[in-house]
Amino acid sequence: MGNKVSHLLPPKAVLGFYPTPLHKLERLSQELGVELYLKRDDLSGPNLFGGNKIRKLEYLLGDATTYDTVITFGATQSNHAMQTAVAARKLGLEVILYLTTITEVDDTQDRGNILIDHVLGAEVHYISMTGRTLTEANAISMEVALKQKEQLEKSGRKVKIVPFGGAAALGSIGFIQGYKELLDQSPVSLDYIVHTTGTGSTAAGLVAGSKLYSQPGKRPKIISMDVLEHAYDHPTKMATLANDALQLMAVAPSVSASDFYFEPHYLQPGYEIPSETAAAAIRRLARTEGILLDPVYTGKGFAGLLDYIETGKIPPNSKVVFWHTGGISALFAESEMVGKLY
Ligand SMILES: *Cc1c(COP(=O)(O)O)cnc(C)c1O
Repeated sequence: MGNKVSHLLPPKAVLGFYPTPLHKLERLSQELGVELYLKRDDLSGPNLFGGNKIRKLEYLLGDATTYDTVITFGATQSNHAMQTAVAARKLGLEVILYLTTITEVDDTQDRGNILIDHVLGAEVHYISMTGRTLTEANAISMEVALKQKEQLEKSGRKVKIVPFGGAAALGSIGFIQGYKELLDQSPVSLDYIVHTTGTGSTAAGLVAGSKLYSQPGKRPKIISMDVLEHAYDHPTKMATLANDALQLMAVAPSVSASDFYFEPHYLQPGYEIPSETAAAAIRRLARTEGILLDPVYTGKGFAGLLDYIETGKIPPNSKVVFWHTGGISALFAESEMVGKLY
């Protein structure tokens, strides 16, 4: 029997190419003794450097006709900032980025995402991390950005602020719908969905999607491999985000903190700091399947997946999807961030 779900969807901008491909990793599946699929949000478009932010931005910028400028935030090598700049340009908008210098920028030799940001003609402001924690630097970014917004609006401009990582309920709707997209295209009934998590708003969408679109007992376990450290109440906050997203769709809240499974082990030694296990995971996928991962997000997430399979936390013969969230442009970032890949 079909599972009819009644809900609303907010206005959406068309930015990417969907559904993104889902395909089996034949050689790696055989090596690992599981059925392993890859969901290719790295190919989400609209250019070569897609990623998971495009799905979020389709809803976050669904009302793009009501403003002329977008401001957002991130680190200097932020995938989110770059994808927001891409989205803004596709929608005919000006874009302003506030970037914290976790990795110091060398203005004579821009690399990776910051190079793309400049090619896109984004207005870039650097917020120094010297003598500040990331939280402090992010707070300063927001403060300065709000002042600039006020200034611009005095001169008649209309400004939209998109939060760090696109982490807002509207953005998570992109992944509620992404979950449905995966369900509709999957040739098998999945046991596990594994992905890399940062802000948690992709995870919030996937978990809410599983509540909305899968019957209890038929829900794949969603394993969210963390690349950021979070406070103890992160799952509670993500449950609120997921329920806010459902509410925007006129659906009753159904997500609780215990629906999330965040795995913090593979983020070591820290955000934007390379790890040898991630490098090994990047080499392994490249050398068995010819597919690339990135050092900051998907390399660490995939390292976690491989370890879960090899230690039996994901049992043999399981049907597993790794959701490739993109980030490949970071392969061409500063070497302190990329580390030694081979
Ligand atoms: C932003 C990002 C993530 C994390 O997504 P969140 O929704 O912030 O948890 C994962 N992978 C890549 C490549 C990203 O750019």
